[in-house]
Amino acid sequence: MKLITILIPAYNEEEVLETLLERLLLVTTEISNYQFEFLFVNDGSRDRTLEMLKEMSTLHPQIAYINLSRNFGKEVAMLAGIDHVNGDAVIIIDADLQDPPEMIPEMISYWEQGYDDVFAKRNSRAGETWFKKWSSNSYYNILDKVSNIPIQNNTGDFRLLDRKCIEALKKIRESQRYTKGMFSWIGFDKKEILFDRDPRAAGTTKWNYPKLVNLAIDGITSSTVLPLRISSFLGILVSFLALLYMLFLFFRTLIFNDSIPGYPSMMSVILFLGGVQLISLGVIGEYLGKIFIETKGRPVYLIEEYYSNYRQYETQKA
Ligand code: UDP
Ligand code: MG
Repeated sequence: MKLITILIPAYNEEEVLETLLERLLLVTTEISNYQFEFLFVNDGSRDRTLEMLKEMSTLHPQIAYINLSRNFGKEVAMLAGIDHVNGDAVIIIDADLQDPPEMIPEMISYWEQGYDDVFAKRNSRAGETWFKKWSSNSYYNILDKVSNIPIQNNTGDFRLLDRKCIEALKKIRESQRYTKGMFSWIGFDKKEILFDRDPRAAGTTKWNYPKLVNLAIDGITSSTVLPLRISSFLGILVSFLALLYMLFLFFRTLIFNDSIPGYPSMMSVILFLGGVQLISLGVIGEYLGKIFIETKGRPVYLIEEYYSNYRQYETQKA
């Protein structure tokens, strides 16, 4: 019988774990032709998440867990999980029940039809502010245009991935991960299904705007070098305009002999150029920082404990 791993990154999720397990059990017991493994990745939770997972795993043999040594963030937690998937496919799902487990049978049926990546696209996003929806919408439109790979708007990480995709994702060892871009980058046969995203069942979101801005910058800088190109073009354009202006000043002084009262224009040119230079330096810095962190070659995450009753594909490479 084939095994399907359900991968759940969890950070301070004590309030929802029980309902989540209930709903997962409800859905998976209906499906008799597959075995299931519930792989929780405890991402350095500071509440009772880990204790609860340990308790739950003594009652339910299908529960496996990875305890990371500290909080590494959802993107890295997902990689830790992907590295330890024992199943022939994995379904990644949020712990907070924003991704309804009831969609799992539909995902599996498309997998059986031969799709390798069945992802859920949000029809609606209940419980999110209009500003979050608007900013996320415009961001994905821009990202889609500037990167060479199609990025799916309104999709999260809720998806089913075939073994092929799992092996592909394991090969991507960047430490500042933008997993959504990676799902697109690896390719394979994709299938989109629609769902309505519910508000969080309990607890609070782990995201705040600074974190989202960081993820957004990582998203752009890890999928395209276009900003570097833009800053070069901007530099060329500004220098060219400055040269024209210089010539103009030169001849004006030569012909009309009117010198000096150019303080405002001088200041504006200096300030403008200063701004452009700072932006360009910042852009270069972003990429340089990425190179710096990657060249250190540190493991992407560290595991304190791994427990599972299905250890077929054990490859512990971090
Ligand atoms: N998560 C995680 N590590 C973190 C932050 C979040 O593993 O540092 C998990 C969290 O437990 C949840 C999922 O990632 O299962 C999505 O988090 P959240 O619901 O806070 O994000 P949102 O739905 O608001 O985008
Ligand atoms: Mg959530």
